[in-house]
Amino acid sequence: MKKVPFVSKEKVEEIVKTYPTPFHIYDEKGIRENAAAVKEAFSWNKGFKEYFAVKATPNPALINILHEYGCGTDCSSVTELMISKAMGIDGEDIMFSSNDTPASEFVYADKIGAIINLDDFTHIDYLKKALGGCLPKTLSCRYNPGGVFTMSNGIMDNPGDAKYGMTTEQILEAYRVLKAEGVERFGLHAFLASNTVTNEYYPKLAGELFELAIKIRKECGVTLSFINLSGGVGIDYTEEAQANDIRAIGSGVKEAYEKILAPEGLDDIAIYTEMGRFMMGPYGGLVTQAIHEKHTHKEYVGVDACAVNLMRPAMYGAYHHITVLGKEDAPADTVVDVTGSLCENNDKFAIDRKLPKIDMGDYLFIHDTGAHGFAMGYSYNGKLKSAELLLREDGSVKLIRRAETPMDYFATLDVLPEYAKMEEEMKTVGEIKIGNIL
Ligand SMILES: *Cc1c(COP(=O)(O)O)cnc(C)c1O
Repeated sequence: MKKVPFVSKEKVEEIVKTYPTPFHIYDEKGIRENAAAVKEAFSWNKGFKEYFAVKATPNPALINILHEYGCGTDCSSVTELMISKAMGIDGEDIMFSSNDTPASEFVYADKIGAIINLDDFTHIDYLKKALGGCLPKTLSCRYNPGGVFTMSNGIMDNPGDAKYGMTTEQILEAYRVLKAEGVERFGLHAFLASNTVTNEYYPKLAGELFELAIKIRKECGVTLSFINLSGGVGIDYTEEAQANDIRAIGSGVKEAYEKILAPEGLDDIAIYTEMGRFMMGPYGGLVTQAIHEKHTHKEYVGVDACAVNLMRPAMYGAYHHITVLGKEDAPADTVVDVTGSLCENNDKFAIDRKLPKIDMGDYLFIHDTGAHGFAMGYSYNGKLKSAELLLREDGSVKLIRRAETPMDYFATLDVLPEYAKMEEEMKTVGEIKIGNIL
C-alpha cells in the first residue's frame, strides 16, 4: 500500500520553528483508530487485554492513549515497571515478561502486583527465594516448542534458536510444581515469530497453545486462566505486502478458540496480547533534514539524524520507507545512500534507494518509526537523542519528550560544573540553520 506521511512539508516547516530536526513525531489519530480496532477485533473474548510492549515506545503520553482503550503494559525491566506504575498502571494491568531476570526486578514486580511470566523452569525456585519463600497467587509460564515455526506463505521463525521459554516437558513440570506450591491462577505465554506480515500467525499460534492448554489440564490438573499470544504481529515496512488486518486476525483466533477450547469446556480462558510494533509502528515517523550531498564512489545524501535516532536499518539492514516532503509526486529518478553522521559505515537509512532528487534543506520523512524506533537508540559518538512530538487530532503539536542536551549525556560523570559551563557556551553558538549557510 502506498505510504503517505501524516505530516506535510508545510506542517513540518511550521513545527521546526519550535522544534528543530531531527525528531520523532506520532499520529494520535492513527494510534486511536488502531487501538479501537484491536479492542473490537477481540471483543468476542470476555477477558481480552492488550498489554502494550513498553520497550517498543516507552513514552507515557503515548501509553496513556492506549490505556484509554483498556490496554495494560508489558514490561521487561525495572524502569519499564516504574514507567507503568508512575502512570497509574499497576497490579494485573502489568505483565512482567522478562528473561534472565535479576532478583530485585522480580521483587519490585511482585510488590506492585504485576503478573510475573516465568521464562524458565529454574526461575520458579529463584523467584521463590527472591520473594522470601512464597510465590505469588498468579503466575504465567513462557513456552518454546523448539524447531521452526512455519506458515503457509513461507514466513517462519526459529524458536529452536531462541533463548526464551521452556520446553514442553519443562512447562508441564512447571505447572505441577506451581500447583503444589499453592499458586491459584495460571497463564501460558509464547512468542514464536517476529514481525509476521500475515493474518495467519496469531490463529496458528493460538491453536498450538489451545492444544497445550488441554494437555496441561489433563496432565497437571491445572486449568489456565489466560493465554498470552504475546507480540509478533507485524507491519508492512515496504509498500509491497498486504498490511495485516486485525479483524481477520481476531476472528481467526476466535475460530481456533471455538474449535479447540470450547468443546473441552475451556471457554472462559482470557486471551491476552502483548503487541508493540502493531500498536505503534505505523503511527510514528522520523523527520530529518538533508544537510550534505556527496558525490564520490557513490551518491550520498547526509541528513541530520543518525542511527542513534533509528537503529533498525544499521542493526538489521531493515527497510524503512522514505518520503521527501513536498516531492511526494515527483519521479524517483535518482539513486542515493541516505546517511547519518556516525563514524560507522552501517549508519545508513537507505542504500541505493530510488528517490526524487533531494535538495539541501529538504525534509525527509522516514516512515514506521513508531515502535522500536526512538526506543532502541543508543548514545554512540556522543550523539544526543531527539525530541518526541505528538501530532494531536486537532492538528496541534505537543512535545512529549524533550531532546537531550549535552548535560544529559554528561550526567553520569562527576565533573559536572565544567560541562555545564561548556553547554552554556555551546548555546551562544546558537542554532545554525541550513538556510543561513547555503
Ligand atoms: C518485544 C516483545 C513484545 C512486543 O513485540 P512486537 O514485535 O513489538 O509486537 C511482546 N512481548 C515480549 C515478551 C517481547 O519481548
